[in-house]
Amino acid sequence: MTRSFVSHVFRFAPSPNGYLHLGHAFSALMNREMAAATGGSLLLRMEDIDVERCRPEFEQAIYEDLAWLGLEWEEPVRRQSEHFDAYAEAVASLAERALVYPCFCSRADVANTAAERTDWPRDPDGSPLYPGTCKHLAPAERRARLAAGEPAAWRLDMAAALGQVRQPLAQPITQPITWREYGGGAERREIVGDPSLWGDVILARKDVPASYHVAVVVDDALQGITDVVRGEDLFMATSLHRLLQILLDLPAPAYHHHELLRDAAGRKLSKSLRAKSLRAMRREGISAAAIKEQLGIARRVFAFA
Ligand code: GLU
Repeated sequence: MTRSFVSHVFRFAPSPNGYLHLGHAFSALMNREMAAATGGSLLLRMEDIDVERCRPEFEQAIYEDLAWLGLEWEEPVRRQSEHFDAYAEAVASLAERALVYPCFCSRADVANTAAERTDWPRDPDGSPLYPGTCKHLAPAERRARLAAGEPAAWRLDMAAALGQVRQPLAQPITQPITWREYGGGAERREIVGDPSLWGDVILARKDVPASYHVAVVVDDALQGITDVVRGEDLFMATSLHRLLQILLDLPAPAYHHHELLRDAAGRKLSKSLRAKSLRAMRREGISAAAIKEQLGIARRVFAFA
């Protein structure tokens, strides 16, 4: 085991909107192994801004499943639903610099506009890019609709954000937007990201004054996370996270995006596709040791500086 001078802080950040499956076990154990390999610590964070879908019984189940896998984490656990103020403040600081604008469109509005053209551009997750409808509202209409209490999401003005050298920012963007990506071993690469692929993303939703993207960068900074270890389905989102870190003057962690576990049909394990839960496996008599063996965690060698 090597211990470096900078202490490493890792986090596992599940959403309590369902039961954990093998893919979560893999990610959590990777974080644990990497924390052990670096003499660092592991935090657990509940990403529960979706207050409709997240439930206390799923949160409780996460604690039980992780403890069963032999994980230990530092207390207290940060619960994002208790920190909406922090996320709203971050979005407000972007609003002060005119880097976000209110958007009154519904999902259906965006989908309908996108459906007008077969080649409508899509973001890396496959969602249609925002057509910019509310970006072009006259300031008076915008003010009137906000004053009338019409629900609004807040979207990043991507063009303004990327051209922000002309904006009065504390820390002007230095292109290109990059991050440090670890491999499974000692190798690391400098990745050049392109946040513009995401278009004018929502940073604060209509129902809650936050979004995954804002909450994750605010919390990673507040919690002093030095190493973000998560699935490769979030690789492309990292360019957006780096952009937000630069705009909000937050430190940049290093990243490791690990491979995803897939089912026999090659689809990534997911709650929505009803991947078998860890608790169902436990009920069937499978041991935590057998799960770790199956995941091959013990055979992985991690070398960090
Ligand atoms: N809450 C996210 C998930 O459950 C993970 C986000 C992250 O690790 O950055 O997929």
